Amino acid sequence: MNPKGPPTPASPALWRLDAAAIADAQGTRLARASILLEATGPSRKQSEPLMLRGRSVTTGPYRVVAVGAAHEIDRHPACAAPGLVRTSLPDRILLPGLVNAHTHLDLTHIGPADFEASGGFVGWVDMVRASRHHDADAIGRSVGLGIRQSLLGGVVAVGDIAGAPRGVPQITPFRRLAGSPLAGVSFVEFFAIGRPEPAARTRLAEFLEAHAAAADAGVHLGLQPHATNTVSLPSFRWAIEQAAARNLPLMTHLAETPEERRFIAEGTGPQRELLERLQVWDDSILEHIGRGLSPVAHLAPAMELARDAGVPFAAAHVNDATDEDLTLLARARATVCYCPRASAYFRAQESFGPHRYRDMLRAGIPVALGTDSIVNLPGAAAGVEGPGMSTLDEMRALWRRDGGDPWDLLRMATTDGLRALGLDPAGASLAPGSAPLGLIAIACDGAVTVDHALRAALSGSAHPDLLHIRNDSCQTGIDGEQTSI
Ligand SMILES: [Zn+2]
Repeated sequence: MNPKGPPTPASPALWRLDAAAIADAQGTRLARASILLEATGPSRKQSEPLMLRGRSVTTGPYRVVAVGAAHEIDRHPACAAPGLVRTSLPDRILLPGLVNAHTHLDLTHIGPADFEASGGFVGWVDMVRASRHHDADAIGRSVGLGIRQSLLGGVVAVGDIAGAPRGVPQITPFRRLAGSPLAGVSFVEFFAIGRPEPAARTRLAEFLEAHAAAADAGVHLGLQPHATNTVSLPSFRWAIEQAAARNLPLMTHLAETPEERRFIAEGTGPQRELLERLQVWDDSILEHIGRGLSPVAHLAPAMELARDAGVPFAAAHVNDATDEDLTLLARARATVCYCPRASAYFRAQESFGPHRYRDMLRAGIPVALGTDSIVNLPGAAAGVEGPGMSTLDEMRALWRRDGGDPWDLLRMATTDGLRALGLDPAGASLAPGSAPLGLIAIACDGAVTVDHALRAALSGSAHPDLLHIRNDSCQTGIDGEQTSI
């Protein structure tokens, strides 16, 4: 129970919220403001309301009728309508629900783990391979834990990587997401390089044949060729053709580690040794790598193919980016998913210098925020309320470290996140006529302007309150037994 949490109604037909400030990343910037919403469709029947920290969350589709200064909204005719429910948030900033563009909910059961630098990235991958679940029920429970962590963090949409243990694509994460209040994309992971490459493609093609029409309750399937060191360039091209034919967005890990850079440039190092150890290595791999290219330059032809085919292409991490790489990413109209705490956890700065997200934004590259998995979030604990699987924590980490423009951070955690998932950025708009995916409120004590309010919210440590989420799926998908969280 959170006694300070603002009271929220169940699902009013007309709903007015008065806040210290109301803002989105698309031009709504108001201090001492009000927003008026109307329900636009029947709420799907739920056995119990969605509960978070002892409060009910308003669910169902809403349209913004008006947003403006409180005295302007007072004059709106709808404010005289019977049944109007009013929520007062005098010390909160009201924002669109957040987007976590890159995460691995199926690893949530592992919890935060220290990074052993001596073992490098490959040692870490070995640890995850040994710890991850293989059977569908256990995977589903781990995803359920991650869904809970996401909602507690004010996240309303995710780009979730559905991992492929032992190379087997999984539908369970999609089903858990589709049965939860979250919107987003379940990116089906696959590996396709070297000796098992033909079999891997066949297995994925069969999976897509069985499931590609899957879309439910605001959740879609996507494709995740794992990374440049685990998927060959021809298989990237093949995946883009599959994505174009089936209208799926695509995400991959790109330019993440020094091991990847060495593998792509030279065809040597720990990533090659891993492929050899797994008996995947085949000298034909050298047809496309070992040519001195950066990972981004290596993948640029595939990204351009995606652009020309109209396939949304998101590149997670991009810790390693030269000026030329930025030009290639901008030309390919790729979106970068930056996971600030994950990059710090893996000490990317020691190899590549500070992440260039602000240079990317200046170059016209959308930069979404992601948390990556909970494994690389020291300080977050699975199943415990607190900082964790929230892009608010990523915004705050960047704000503390770099300062800069807080409105860029809001854009990265909302509008650019939806873009990374191939979803309509209007889902993060609070302008009249829009239908936001969700609404959150964050404490911003003492704020006198909307700019101050956003800065105060980023400087603070209070958890966000999820007030509304559009997707009103029943909650049986959250953790198996409970219907409230
Ligand atoms: Zn990842």
